[in-house]
Amino acid sequence: MKKLAILLWFIALLPHYGQTQSSPKIEALLNKMTLDEKIGQMTQVTLGVVSTPQDGVLDTGKLATAVEKYKVGSILNVTNHALSVDQWRKVISRIQDEAARTRLKIPVMYGLDGIHGQTYTLNATLFPQNIAMAATRDPELAAAIAKVAAKELRASGVRWNFAPVLDCGRQPLWSRFPETYGEDVYIGTTMGTAAIKAYEEDGLKTPTAVASCMKHYIAYSASRTGKDRTPIYLPEIEMREYYLPQFRAAVKAGASTLMVNSAEINGTPVHASKYLLTDLLRKELGFKGVVVSDWEDIVRLHTRHDVAATPRAAVAMAINAGIDMSMVPNDFSFFELLKEAVQKGEVPVSRIDEAVRRILTLKEKLGLFDNPYPEDAAAANFGRPEYQSLALQAAHEAITLLKNDANTLPLARTSKILVAGPSARSITALNGCWSYTWQGNDERWYPSDSKTILDALRDKFGADNVTTSAEKGFNSRANYDTTALKTAASGADAIVLCLGENAYAESPGNIRDLVLPEEQLALARAAASTGKPVILVLTEGRPRFITSIAPLMKAIVMAYWSGRKTAEAISDILAGDYNPDGRLPFSYPKSMGEIVLYDRKPTEDVREVFNDDRGAGYDPLFPFGWGLSYTTFEYSDLKLSSDKLNATGKLTVTITVKNTGSRDGKHTVELYTHEHYASITPNMRRLRAFKKITLKAGDSQTVSFSLDKNDLAFVNAELHMVTEPGEFDAMIGDKKATFTYQ
Ligand code: BGC
Repeated sequence: MKKLAILLWFIALLPHYGQTQSSPKIEALLNKMTLDEKIGQMTQVTLGVVSTPQDGVLDTGKLATAVEKYKVGSILNVTNHALSVDQWRKVISRIQDEAARTRLKIPVMYGLDGIHGQTYTLNATLFPQNIAMAATRDPELAAAIAKVAAKELRASGVRWNFAPVLDCGRQPLWSRFPETYGEDVYIGTTMGTAAIKAYEEDGLKTPTAVASCMKHYIAYSASRTGKDRTPIYLPEIEMREYYLPQFRAAVKAGASTLMVNSAEINGTPVHASKYLLTDLLRKELGFKGVVVSDWEDIVRLHTRHDVAATPRAAVAMAINAGIDMSMVPNDFSFFELLKEAVQKGEVPVSRIDEAVRRILTLKEKLGLFDNPYPEDAAAANFGRPEYQSLALQAAHEAITLLKNDANTLPLARTSKILVAGPSARSITALNGCWSYTWQGNDERWYPSDSKTILDALRDKFGADNVTTSAEKGFNSRANYDTTALKTAASGADAIVLCLGENAYAESPGNIRDLVLPEEQLALARAAASTGKPVILVLTEGRPRFITSIAPLMKAIVMAYWSGRKTAEAISDILAGDYNPDGRLPFSYPKSMGEIVLYDRKPTEDVREVFNDDRGAGYDPLFPFGWGLSYTTFEYSDLKLSSDKLNATGKLTVTITVKNTGSRDGKHTVELYTHEHYASITPNMRRLRAFKKITLKAGDSQTVSFSLDKNDLAFVNAELHMVTEPGEFDAMIGDKKATFTYQ
């Protein structure tokens, strides 16, 4: 009996999975709260619900209804477009004044989407989108830009950032592909956790930190059609191999919150999945923070997914599955419905307490109970001059040189250049989604000193040397006039043709075809027909097919949507003032029938009938990891510290890299592995580590990596992460060495 009592006492002391360790203050507060007050905390509404139709102006009556009557715990978003820092500080202060009038004076937590810098504050510094950041292969840079986003959010009085996106970009059609770190698990994990740490590591009470939000849990990016918020069919083995590791690592890195995938997986909407939201997330991953729904997604279990027969059933389903806060966001229906569901015994009060405990604990960590108002110390961190140089550095390191026949680039400083194409005079096509507005496509809200590619090339090569056939506005008809382009090219030495995508976000970015629109392809053909060298500059968030025109182009520069300084970075690269070092974070496919990812399986790697050689099945226009430089790098002496690795050991892989060209440059060394035989068909290659180095012309450097058994693990048929004994290749560039794991 005594032994049993000790055992029970010991079990009682063990923290319950997913249970938040709350302070005595939070427990005391929770004890005082009525059901209404608790449910209010779980309610998040959009700014429009408490505002006048005029942007940034709160409506006193509506605000009182939200905060005092419905006791809402959180507000998000903007009404139409970004506000100034001062407007934000007033808005947040006014909301907190209102919260101070409530019985328990619980501050409101405000959340915004600072996706690539602080999206919604006018003049905030916008950096490259995640897809472009992945091309930098520089986690420290990812951390540095996240830090600036945190500071500019906090300067605006906002302490919760709905970032980073950890969805793995394996479906290039997906309209949110630009928000991903591309197709590779390791890059997504490394860059994502670097961002999370930067958001949070100073401690959430400091005016340089914000709570991060890993999103969108899980596999949101794996939509079968590529259309946003459409069904995903995903075997669990694939989910665990390619989509879960980023979230597992993010939980370990200390992410405070998580947002749920709006779509359904194998017929179960993720917002209704107790397995994903409680068993996997809380029990297996050990996440203790706040889970917030995505936009309107709880009621959509009833209105869209048709798995709940009534709105109340939808609310009960989602809350019982494990969601703590509902981004309702347009009304107070969630408040009423959850209250009814609790009163009818459909949702246990213990579930409500658990959710509210998590929310209040986050508010406490954010220092909101100490001072909910925008801090004075935070204001000084807005718009500092050094953010501009960081934005330029990030754009420099992202932009990827895909083709450079006969050293067409860099262009001589005296070149006469014709700049053409729809993105030549566009700001929005350089920044993309979540840029001062949700869609990012309204130029009026961008900083007045934002430069277009035309502006930046004129600054660089001289206004007299740079002419254009383009007009302002991506969709302006003149931008697609092939005759005008040909005529304008007559005096030029080279044509810089700026094609790609204008800004879009979420469903408005859905497309029917990945091929670049025909009117853009026609421009490329017209440009090439002049006989002048054509330099194609692509400003796009996903790989739009250019297969038919690529051979006609002398050089191709992938600029992605690289933020505030995209144009300046392009002009530096075209002029040779910056030596490009970006590396593709995805395979650039040739066509729909050729979407094979770099980490393909053996049977995708061979092409039966035509060619049985390994490698023939992976035939992209440009492979994953591709990226040219104005100098050349050579590898030699790939060495392993041993030809054997065991379960507790480490293997050191070293390689010598030499800059054999005549220019200094940066270069990312990437280490891949491949297991020869395994119980689950092995990937042909997996990226296991990378390091970016700077090498002066003629210099060499030895780079080393350390591998252990976890770096070689995969998900087996029983869904366990395992490393199986066998032979492995370690591969860097064209070099390879083999070792045995035993
Ligand atoms: C998006 C989220 C975003 C939320 C709030 C949703 O439509 O899917 O990524 O955080 O809106 O703006």
